[in-house]
Amino acid sequence: MDLKRAVIDLMPAPLVRTFAAPYIAGKGVSSGVAKADDLHKRLGLYSTLDLLGEEVFLREDVEATVQVYFRMIEALKDRPYASISLKPTQIGINQTLSYCQDNLRRITAAAAAHGMRITLDMEDRTLTDASLVMYKAVRSEFDNIGIVLQSRLFRTPDDIKSLHARPCRVRICIGIYKERAEVALQDKPDMKERLFEQVQLLLDHGHYPEIATHDEPLVRRCIEHLDKRGVAKDAYEFQMLLGVPRGELQGEIVKRGQIMRLYVPFAEDWKYATRYLKRRLAANPAMAFMVMKNLSGR
Ligand SMILES: Cc1cc2nc3c(=O)[nH]c(=O)nc-3n(C[C@H](O)[C@H](O)[C@H](O)COP(=O)(O)OP(=O)(O)OC[C@H]3O[C@@H](n4cnc5c(N)ncnc54)[C@H](O)[C@@H]3O)c2cc1C
Repeated sequence: MDLKRAVIDLMPAPLVRTFAAPYIAGKGVSSGVAKADDLHKRLGLYSTLDLLGEEVFLREDVEATVQVYFRMIEALKDRPYASISLKPTQIGINQTLSYCQDNLRRITAAAAAHGMRITLDMEDRTLTDASLVMYKAVRSEFDNIGIVLQSRLFRTPDDIKSLHARPCRVRICIGIYKERAEVALQDKPDMKERLFEQVQLLLDHGHYPEIATHDEPLVRRCIEHLDKRGVAKDAYEFQMLLGVPRGELQGEIVKRGQIMRLYVPFAEDWKYATRYLKRRLAANPAMAFMVMKNLSGR
């Protein structure tokens, strides 16, 4: 594992970029918008745009990021097939929770003015409480905000039960961050089993699950369950990452009249995007090998 980390650390930036190219729309807000338009026009897919970047510490850098999100919202308005995703570490959680919440509220309000959805991504376990506090506060004012929960964490069923009584939009995924055995499952098949259960729990509580997985048998199991249960097609959706080769399955989902949304990251500055990508690869070196497998199968 340490060797894998060292290899990732030593990777030159252009190699990281080449490696990441299929997973990123390009540089600048316009590349993200163009990708969202293309995916919808050609394939009937929905998108959620994400600004790739490093953790932000200084208030002036946080404000610059918030301004990029305002530009994204302006650029994406009148596109019901596009939404935005953002991370607490980009909008001020490294300062204070209330400052971050205030920024989240500003961005959510700007998106709400155009009927646009926004989702607060979930980062590692140290930010779960803060993310839920901010989400719940902003959700009590705005309907357009959603959150992410990770099926690997033992706490997730309780977190689902603690959500507002009114419908919440929740992206449910296994979680990208490795977590300690005291707080999280360590075995992938178990995480996927929990994900299936948590989709059901979200539906039981009247919430809107966004089922984020590339695991084909799991997607099919969810489709079967949703059909059997007679859940309306506008009461849930499926999500995958741009670049992961699941075209056939995505096409099938679109044909069935279900929403299939891709996570579409773009970079404002390659320098920050490269650092961020390296950090993600180092946090989960197994991902680097999944990417290589996908690229070799292309
Ligand atoms: C739309 C979306 C948003 C997400 N948001 C968050 C979030 O906010 N917080 C969080 O912790 N996690 C997030 N994730 C990541 C998620 O938690 C998982 O880590 C990821 O989806 C891999 O899990 P899997 O269920 O697809 O199963 P896996 O078994 O891990 O993947 C199945 C197959 O999919 C392919 N694959 C999966 N992930 C990748 C990848 N990154 N690159 C290349 N190929 C890949 C591989 O071929 C792999 O064999 C998100 C995932 C998606 C799809």
